[in-house]
Amino acid sequence: MIHGTDPSDVPVERLPGVGPQRAAELASLGIRTAADLLFYFPFRYDDYRFRSVRELSDGDRATIRVRVAGFPRLSFFGRNRSRMACLVEESGFPLTAVWFNQPYLRDRLEPGKEVVLNGKWDARRRQLTVMTTEFPDQKTRRAGNLAPVYRLSGSLTQSAMRKLVDFALQRYASALPELLPESLVARYGLMKRSEAVERLHRPGVDEELYRRARERMAYEELFLFQLKLQAYRAVSRSRADGVAHRVDMEKVRAFVRGLPFRLTESQKQALAEILHDLKQPYAMNRLLQGDVGSGKTVVAAAALYAVATAGAQGAVMAPTEILAEQHKRVLERLLAPHGVQVDLLTGSMSERHRRDVKASIAIGLTDVVVGTHALIQEDVHFRNLGLVVTDEQHRFGVQQRSLLRKKGHAPDILMMTATPIPRTLAISLFGDLDVSTLRERPAGRKPVRTYWVKPDRMDRVVAWIRREIASGRQAYVVCPLIEESDKLDVQNAVDMYDRLRFQMPEANVGLLHGRLSPEEKESVMRRFVAGEVQVLVSTTVVEVGVDVPNATIMVVYDADRFGLSQLHQLRGRVGRGEHASWCVLVADPKTEAGVERMRIMTQTDDGFEIARMDLEMRGPGEFFGTRQSGLPEFRVADLSADLELLERARDDAARLVASHEFWTGVEYAPLRQWLDREGVLSGERVD
Ligand code: ADP
Ligand code: MG
Repeated sequence: MIHGTDPSDVPVERLPGVGPQRAAELASLGIRTAADLLFYFPFRYDDYRFRSVRELSDGDRATIRVRVAGFPRLSFFGRNRSRMACLVEESGFPLTAVWFNQPYLRDRLEPGKEVVLNGKWDARRRQLTVMTTEFPDQKTRRAGNLAPVYRLSGSLTQSAMRKLVDFALQRYASALPELLPESLVARYGLMKRSEAVERLHRPGVDEELYRRARERMAYEELFLFQLKLQAYRAVSRSRADGVAHRVDMEKVRAFVRGLPFRLTESQKQALAEILHDLKQPYAMNRLLQGDVGSGKTVVAAAALYAVATAGAQGAVMAPTEILAEQHKRVLERLLAPHGVQVDLLTGSMSERHRRDVKASIAIGLTDVVVGTHALIQEDVHFRNLGLVVTDEQHRFGVQQRSLLRKKGHAPDILMMTATPIPRTLAISLFGDLDVSTLRERPAGRKPVRTYWVKPDRMDRVVAWIRREIASGRQAYVVCPLIEESDKLDVQNAVDMYDRLRFQMPEANVGLLHGRLSPEEKESVMRRFVAGEVQVLVSTTVVEVGVDVPNATIMVVYDADRFGLSQLHQLRGRVGRGEHASWCVLVADPKTEAGVERMRIMTQTDDGFEIARMDLEMRGPGEFFGTRQSGLPEFRVADLSADLELLERARDDAARLVASHEFWTGVEYAPLRQWLDREGVLSGERVD
């Protein structure tokens, strides 16, 4: 019995015309079963819907329905080339249709006959250059419709793909199981699943129906995504396979009291949330977000200390070696007085030194190890890894996180990020994460004043830098670099370097860009940190998170070429000490968006506000930097357009997972089965 067979059990080889080669081509597109084919939606549609000539603009490609109004005139030129013109009319509007190299059509174009033409409109000549011609007596497909266009591979053609999909639709669509519970389908009046799938392949002319089909599939996709995250979280919490650290709270309190400053309210709150998680038997999965300078490091330090008092180890991963070294220094200063051994492990250390540190980690002498993410990937063995802290979470996607988890006995994970993600979006996208947010900055922080100047004022900016240097301060001058391989832009930084060296002979000017060897970069950076270099000319490789409190001026050249969040990050490099600091944006924006960014930067210093506007201006994909971010990719849903749908899906999934019926009720059996297939219920989620 074919009808009623679940299409996910039907391999594509069983479809007509699919041999081993075709199957391989389909597999390379991720299509292995009839169900995969049904969910392989077109990425766009070619528009063959009928238009009226009256509404066409010059150059439009359109499909129109006409009546032949004269006799075709055919003329040959060259060897087998021909041109044929014929007078036709579309609801009373006369025009000329022109065909090239299709002389065989002449006999079929009898006056009075209806034909459907698709072609390009030339408004001045009132002439349509015809690409395809369809006669009513032939079984037409495309005319009047939107034709699906699929991504292809190998020798697959659109028409072969369309045929395959058509077959799958006819044969299997009705057997697609409904996954969403009846209650949700009813509440939102969702279109039936099989009907929605069909409509996304063959949208037809009814736009409202198409909209409903798209909404249904987008909702389903987002809901299942949320359900997966939340069910996974519920399962792993209930299995309680993490470690309930026996934190010595007395010691942790003493650590906090011993700090040279009082924690802000947000820091206290975040630390309390983290300590609570550490003491629970499930593995923590927490995002600690806070604007630059909000004091994340000290919160992480307290968490690492708490774990150390419970006899477990901590690992801190930084995106670069310079940052790793800096974290090591800061953590050592905070933790060593409390008897915590902090070590560094990076690729540039000598083989011998590395071996020693690895041994120290393995036998548990090292309490906290700081390194780049190689730390977690290579053969580093911990005696008892309890907490992993990552800096700049957005560089670690879901995959890396699960890699991490395998390094210890389900270690707790704390991810720090200075690119604040609006809370709803964070929770929606990382449904398996808890989020702690540092809202305020520590008291006494002076805001960084921001100015926007035109490039012709650069000489005044240089004079300003010289005054700061004369009073012992340091400066950054950042030039844009879109791609590391972009020669011109490196040149831009090199030119600036030459120019500044010439204009301020009294200063040591350093140059840092992506083309330098790691050793050269390290060396320049180190000399800047040590104060030997006063002016650092750099591309954006100036590290996020670099802490040189003596630097008071950040000049960003061609600032309009940076995104808002990036500018805010750069600005966060200054204003880290007791001195008043400035950020100077040098730009002559050519676009309105560029002007708008400069305006926003001079008006607000609030990272959350900036992130929100950045997100608004660029959309989530670009905001997160697409793929590397671990941002999920959806087939139908579109994160810029469907944010509200995402939130609704999140709430629905949360309510469901929290209910008893979901785990026992018959209505939810298909969903539970799906979760099981996805490896969620067994806890071995494959992302
Ligand atoms: P970020 O969140 O950007 O990583 P840091 O952790 O580097 O911020 O903190 C920035 C600076 O603020 C550090 O020098 C740190 O010692 C200091 N700091 C952190 N918390 C406080 C506080 N509650 N009061 C005063 N200074 C603080
Ligand atoms: Mg930091």
